[in-house]
Amino acid sequence: MGENRVDGVMGTPVVLLGAGAMGAALGRAWLAAGHPLTVWNRTAARAAALAGAGAEVASTAAGAVAAGRLVVVCLLDDESVEQALAGVELTGKDVVNLVTGTPGQARARAAWAARRGARYLDGGIMAVPPMIGVPAAGGYVFYSGSAELFEEHREVLSVPAGARYVGADAGYAALHDVALLSAMYGMFGGIAHAFALVRGEAVTPGELAPLLVDWLTAMAGSAGRTAGQLESGDYTTGVVSNLAMQVAGKETLLRTAEEQRVSVELLSPYFRLMEHRLALGSGAEDLTGVVDLLRR
Ligand code: NDP
Repeated sequence: MGENRVDGVMGTPVVLLGAGAMGAALGRAWLAAGHPLTVWNRTAARAAALAGAGAEVASTAAGAVAAGRLVVVCLLDDESVEQALAGVELTGKDVVNLVTGTPGQARARAAWAARRGARYLDGGIMAVPPMIGVPAAGGYVFYSGSAELFEEHREVLSVPAGARYVGADAGYAALHDVALLSAMYGMFGGIAHAFALVRGEAVTPGELAPLLVDWLTAMAGSAGRTAGQLESGDYTTGVVSNLAMQVAGKETLLRTAEEQRVSVELLSPYFRLMEHRLALGSGAEDLTGVVDLLRR
C-alpha cells in the first residue's frame, strides 16, 4: 500500500479493528491528520459511520488486515481480540493492541503475535474518547513491547494522544495503566465517602466539590514522598504526619461517619492496614509501610 499525501504531508496507512466509542475517536483523529484508514467493525454500521470521514470500510477483519502493515486493535477485551483475529494472516504485520487488559494478557498476546510472525506493541489508553485528537486535553497512551515498532510508528501513534513508551516487556503498558486506574478508584472511594458525609446537610455537593478537588490535588503530591521512601528503604525520612498520630486521628473519622450514619466500608480496610503497621512498631514512620503489607 502506498503513502498518501494530504496537504503535502505523508500519511502512514492505518488499519483499525474496532469502531466503538474509542476506536471511532482514534479513527477520526488519524483521518483528520491525513492518514489513510481502513476500518473493520463486527457491527458494520459502526464502521460505516467512519466512511463519511474518508475511511475505507472492510467487511472482514482479514480484509482490513490485508490492507496495511500497521494494524491497531481497539476492541472490547482480550477475548474479542482472540475471536476477531482467529485465522487471520498476521505475518509481517505490526500489531498495536490498545485493548485494556492485564500485564499477563499482554505478555501472552505478545507471544501469540510472535508465533504468528508479527511485531507487537501493547497500549494502555489514559484518555476518554473526547480527549482523543485534542492535544490540549493531555491524554496519552502507555506503550510497551517492540521498541523497533514503536520507533518506526511513533509519529502516527502520537496523532490521537501522546505516546509514552515504558519498556520492552509487553506487560508494562498494562501495568502502568492499571496502577493509575487502581489509584483512581481509591480516590473515587474517598470522594464517595465525603459526599455521603454531607448528604442531607446544608452543605451542598456543589459546595463540597471544589474543596475536594483542591484538597486531593494538594495531597496527591505525597506520592513523590512515598516513592522516595520506598526507594531509600527509610520510611522515617521527611515524615510530615506520623503513623501513630494518624491511627489515633482515624477515630475521629470513624466516629463522624457513625454520627452522620454513613458506612465505613470504604475507609475501614485502609485503616486496618495502618493499625497493623503500627502494631509492628512503626509509629514514627509515614504511611509508606502499608505498601509492604499489601504485597503477597
Ligand atoms: P465500546 O463498547 O464502545 O466498543 C467495543 C468494541 O469492541 C466494538 O467495536 C465492538 O463491536 C467490539 N467487540 C466487542 N466484542 C467483540 C467480539 N467478540 N468480536 C469482535 N468485536 C467485538 O468500547 P470502547 O471503544 O470504549 O473501548 C474499546 C477499548 O478501549 C476497551 O478495551 C476499553 O477498555 C478501551 N478504553 C476505552 C476508554 C473509554 O473511555 N471508552 C478509555 C480507555 C480505554 P460491535 O460494535 O460489533 O459491538
